[in-house]
Amino acid sequence: MKTLESYVLGRWQVGQGPTRTLVDPTTEEPLAVCGTGGIDFRAVVEHARGAGGPALRALGFEKRGALLKSLSAAIHEHRDELLELSIRCAGTTRSDAKFDVDGATGTLAAYAHFAKELKGAFLSDGTGIQLGRTARFWGQHILVPKLGVALHVNAFNFPAWNMAEKMACAVLAGMPVIEKPGTPTAMLAWRIAQILVQSGCLPEGAFQLLCGSTGDLLDHLGPQDVIAFTGSSATGALLRGHPNVVRHNVHVNVEADSINAAILGPDISTDSETYGIFLANVELDLVQKTGQKCTAVRRILVPEALREDVTRDLVERLQRVRVGDPGEEGTRMGPLASADALQEVRAGIERLATSARVLCGGSAPVRPKGFFVAPTLLLARDADADVPHAFEVFGPVGTVIPYSGAAGAAARLANRGGGGLVASVYSNDREWTEAVVLAISPWHGRVWIGSDKVADQAIPPGTVLPASIHGGPGRAGGSAELGGLRGLEPYLQRTAIQGFQGLVASAFGAPTPVSS
Ligand code: NAP
Repeated sequence: MKTLESYVLGRWQVGQGPTRTLVDPTTEEPLAVCGTGGIDFRAVVEHARGAGGPALRALGFEKRGALLKSLSAAIHEHRDELLELSIRCAGTTRSDAKFDVDGATGTLAAYAHFAKELKGAFLSDGTGIQLGRTARFWGQHILVPKLGVALHVNAFNFPAWNMAEKMACAVLAGMPVIEKPGTPTAMLAWRIAQILVQSGCLPEGAFQLLCGSTGDLLDHLGPQDVIAFTGSSATGALLRGHPNVVRHNVHVNVEADSINAAILGPDISTDSETYGIFLANVELDLVQKTGQKCTAVRRILVPEALREDVTRDLVERLQRVRVGDPGEEGTRMGPLASADALQEVRAGIERLATSARVLCGGSAPVRPKGFFVAPTLLLARDADADVPHAFEVFGPVGTVIPYSGAAGAAARLANRGGGGLVASVYSNDREWTEAVVLAISPWHGRVWIGSDKVADQAIPPGTVLPASIHGGPGRAGGSAELGGLRGLEPYLQRTAIQGFQGLVASAFGAPTPVSS
């Protein structure tokens, strides 16, 4: 059994005292232990601020972009080993492992690409503006790297991507990072951290890793520091409300749960291309990563007239999904990541079933060993009941919710999720689509529109792309990540510079506007 060390203060350190055991979710065989007892968290924070920050900032945007490219290449060199490890420690199929690992290298590479238009030590934000009676008194916004450390607390479901996408933005902005992966699958993040450290690309102090709890680290954060968190709303609220975080107004970015809706338009016939991608995307979302994807569809809003077709077709597809050992060829869906996750998903299905009929799957165990659950589809008895809109079941579980077909009715139900990461809308009717999109946009960070026009090339709605923002209001955390250079904003201070145009415009005006 391995011991996952943390990488702090320039060395790998084994935690003392209590540890947590990580297991293979397919076999329940123990794989590793980890813990952060004995780590001096104040020193970790100071090391990042004192060594990592200045070294990163000295590089400027251009060289930090090149650094991201090297990190992406270093991870990619170990791709096969990392895919195998993901299968074992996270219970992912090879295809799901690629989604995570290639997502990590792809996002780092994308940010290296975005950096190509950036030069120097700061970014100009927009164009300058006359503030005085004449243009002599001038204003210009700029964005400068914060001088603290970025603490990244990540969820268990994407140990590679979640670490890489957060790092890409923080490091490019010029902030050192402390990465804390979700413990059940931390072994993959730990191995990637070894690769990053061995690559020698990162300046000392720019990257540290904690395998285990964050101890008293939050007590040592200050006004120039940032917390970026991915995980449940409950933990997000805990971090946001931490007294020291509140006292110093530490910037907190939260990516939390989302009860994502897929909305099928009333104009869609079952022989259309759009119906085909609707079925394929809903199935993919329920099955990929065993439904442990924050962007996965949980509610499937279907016009009453299409209810029978949709439920029949989805049940048929889900019953064909082979659930089992993710390392075996032909397996489409592996186990959930941990015993806790299994317990929560089973309880969640039972709670959903209080107001919906189980059409396939259910909460019963699928195999005697491992954390398996069947792909589960339910049909809501009452579209207006609270249950399907009120809580997230983080597994391969979706509820079909019939509605009248009216745009207003679809939007009202979609918005009952209380704030979502993504909603997908399937229609070829322009007027209906516009009405739905405008009505749901205030409640969603991303709206994806599927139609015959894009059926052959649309990337499925569950995929988070570095060029588009990821995040959402309300339940989803009220924050955003990624979105091209917008993703750097949590790590940069926006400052309005006001003064003589001759100085302000020439020293701080665009050559490097934030254009995306
Ligand atoms: P979680 O239990 O909230 O844990 C998330 C992270 O927070 C883990 O690293 C966890 O560490 C850490 N953590 C827990 N309590 C903490 C505390 N008191 N202080 C500091 N850190 C703490 O969530 P999860 O079960 O890992 O992930 C599943 C949830 O994440 C789902 O609700 C899902 O929707 C959400 N999610 C959202 C997104 C998004 O982008 N919006 C993406 C993926 C997942 P340990 O693992 O060591 O406990």
